[in-house]
Amino acid sequence: MQTYPDVLLFIDGEWRHALKGETLPVTDPATEEVIGNIARARKEDLDLALAAADRGFRIWRDTSPFERSKIMRKAADILRERADRIAFLMTREQGKPLAQSKAEVLSGADIIDWFAEEARRTYGQIIPARISGVSQMAIKLPVGPVAAFTPWNFPINQVVRKLSAAVATGCSIIVKAPHETPASPAELIRAFADAGVPAGVVNLVNGKASEISEYLIPHPVIRKISFTGSTPIGKHLAALAGLHMKRATMELGGHAPVLVFDDADIGKAIEVSAASKFRNAGQVCVAPTRFLVQDGVADQFLDGMVKAAQAIKVGNGFDADTQMGPLANERRMTAIEAMIGDAVARGAELKTGGRRIGNKGHFFEPTVLANVPISAEIMNDEPFGPVAIVNRFKHYDEAIEEANRLPFGLASYAFTGSIKTAHALGRQMEAGMLSINHNGLALPEVPFGGIKDSGYGTEGGSEATQAYLETRFVSQMS
Ligand code: NAD
Repeated sequence: MQTYPDVLLFIDGEWRHALKGETLPVTDPATEEVIGNIARARKEDLDLALAAADRGFRIWRDTSPFERSKIMRKAADILRERADRIAFLMTREQGKPLAQSKAEVLSGADIIDWFAEEARRTYGQIIPARISGVSQMAIKLPVGPVAAFTPWNFPINQVVRKLSAAVATGCSIIVKAPHETPASPAELIRAFADAGVPAGVVNLVNGKASEISEYLIPHPVIRKISFTGSTPIGKHLAALAGLHMKRATMELGGHAPVLVFDDADIGKAIEVSAASKFRNAGQVCVAPTRFLVQDGVADQFLDGMVKAAQAIKVGNGFDADTQMGPLANERRMTAIEAMIGDAVARGAELKTGGRRIGNKGHFFEPTVLANVPISAEIMNDEPFGPVAIVNRFKHYDEAIEEANRLPFGLASYAFTGSIKTAHALGRQMEAGMLSINHNGLALPEVPFGGIKDSGYGTEGGSEATQAYLETRFVSQMS
């Protein structure tokens, strides 16, 4: 077995211990063993990171987009070369199957490449003037040092979108990575450093999330924040950002509805739904959650989902045949158990799963609940775990009303053979993303973000860099 490292802070181009020497432990979710430590940043470490980000920004904003792009491409290549080692670290700290960890690292490299291209396309505008001899220009400039806060479910993917957008546009960044899964994002930062990003442009801190965000967000050096995590924390951080007039991107929770119509290819709907539902043990913000199935195919769909859930091999992510690893931490186990218990007490049918597996590691059975009343907590709060809810509907209007009932609006899905239904859903589904007849979300070149309580801003597609740029108007008479 390879070794798991202690993770240090990366500030001003150097890996450092925290000034006070404090650390926090990192636990393997499959064995519950402590596998390493992270340096815990306090205010004095954050002050160093802020000063470094301020200096780094002054260098990087004046570095040509072509040079930035070249360095980013090199970082992507380094990440690909180190993919096996980084995948090992990710599986050790997060638990997902090794092949999925490697896929996440490689898709991280693709995201860097895509943003490296976007770096060269931060176009402004020339606006025709009313007076001869006047040039009116709207130019795009980097907003300034960014503070980014990311969660543990996709340790690299959640960081790489923020990091790449910032670096591409000429911003500097302080990343607060998840303390549960710190080593793989640290390797992402190392790839940028080894590719030649100047000191101070990219910084990594770790520690207690609230302590760090409460200090960084109001700080005058920070000009923008980006957060991925739960809706309650997102609202708190967005309010703090608003109070200090900081730009913000918020990628928050979801409760994705999946509408399965009588005219759908049901075999495909089951295959795509089961794979998307149980990937990463359901700890995915865009995971399908409420399956709303039309009466004519409801029994067939439910039966297929139950069989698919029962066929999933749950185990340590390092075992070659494992398809689903452990949940990330004990908090998720307790939360999922409570939600399932509440649903069953309110009359839901537990079709399969519903229990912990073994007494070591955070393993949980892939679970299917049917006919869950909307009063159940799981119908209203994000389960963020391996639980599929399968309910029925009769008519289109009833399905769309239930789909749009919640304040969330992140991902949504549908399966239908009707082009008319597909077009109607595109207009009526209240979600930032809709995928019909397949799972086509989260590519670097397409928008990725939510509406309503799921947040604002996009972390993919051509709009993603705009959040890191400000528009300056210059009127010039010759
Ligand atoms: P949580 O709300 O405590 O934390 C979620 C993430 O936000 C973590 O990475 C945490 O470090 C960070 N965080 C928490 N408080 C913060 C603060 N004051 N300042 C800055 N960052 C802060 O919940 P959790 O138990 O870690 O995860 C459970 C819930 O979080 C899930 O139910 C899900 O809704 C949400 N979550 C969402 C995503 C996503 O991809 N959108 C990822 C992970 C967790």
